Amino acid sequence: MGLLTGKVALIFGVANKNSIAWGIAKALHAQGATVALSYAGTMLEKRVFPLAQEIDCDFVEQCDVTDDAQLDEVFDKVRERFGRVDILVHAVAFAERDDLGGRFVDISRDGFKLALDISAYSLIAMAKRAAPLMTAGGSIMSMTYYAAEKVMPSYNVMAVAKSALETITRYLALDLGEQGVRVNAISAGPIKTLSAAGVPGLRTFIKYAESASPLKRSVSQDDVADTAVYLASDLSKMVTGEIIHVDAGYHVLGLTASRDEIDG
Ligand code: NAD
Repeated sequence: MGLLTGKVALIFGVANKNSIAWGIAKALHAQGATVALSYAGTMLEKRVFPLAQEIDCDFVEQCDVTDDAQLDEVFDKVRERFGRVDILVHAVAFAERDDLGGRFVDISRDGFKLALDISAYSLIAMAKRAAPLMTAGGSIMSMTYYAAEKVMPSYNVMAVAKSALETITRYLALDLGEQGVRVNAISAGPIKTLSAAGVPGLRTFIKYAESASPLKRSVSQDDVADTAVYLASDLSKMVTGEIIHVDAGYHVLGLTASRDEIDG
């Protein structure tokens, strides 16, 4: 019996086999959860459907998270099919390329609204619909990044979106806590995925994270997924409103220089 046997998990954000959401989907399934997937756009169908089959998932619904009607439809279908949700995973983000990289002052108003809508507000919209289905309590989690806390060149509008996401996590934790619904976020180190490829200099981010982090390792989708299992399970039953760093310890550093550089 797995840690999540009997639980129903709804996961937003699988685009392909490199997606963090896919790593999480596999891990939750391996621990016995029944997984339901939602993806964005017909272009992703040919990638998402075969992946769903690998984890015996036959609930795969398209949804643009900026569209309330589409969100309603997905959650209605989940209610009809499963009657409840125990685990909600938000692994969704988007920003126009022009609003990543370049100068921060050049972020456009429309680009700001779009990035914040897709990458941050959507967590509120999902939580509102998931909470009534979390009849036996539940766990909601989203994916954030260190750029919410410290300036990471070129992350620009997405850094603002992640700061909003982290604040939303804390407010939802209070709002839904009495109902036994926990809300947390995982702050993952840089990983090569479709959306991360849109951040100029991603390779440098990854190289730096690996060479400077206390554990001297890059983070993988599976590393994030292990923490997702913990957050989804009763092992974390007293943890809510938390931002858990899965970044090989990078966030504790005040200076990323190596010991050799310091010793001169
Ligand atoms: P990914 O590209 O695989 O996943 C992003 C997902 O967002 C895709 O499935 C995409 O279809 C979806 N999406 C975009 N716009 C959408 C919309 N309007 N409606 C519904 N879905 C939409 O990349 P990923 O790196 O796995 O990203 C997952 C999450 O992890 C994101 O929140 C990302 O910011 C976060 N994150 C990633 C890294 C990293 O380095 N890869 C680090 C920390 C946090």
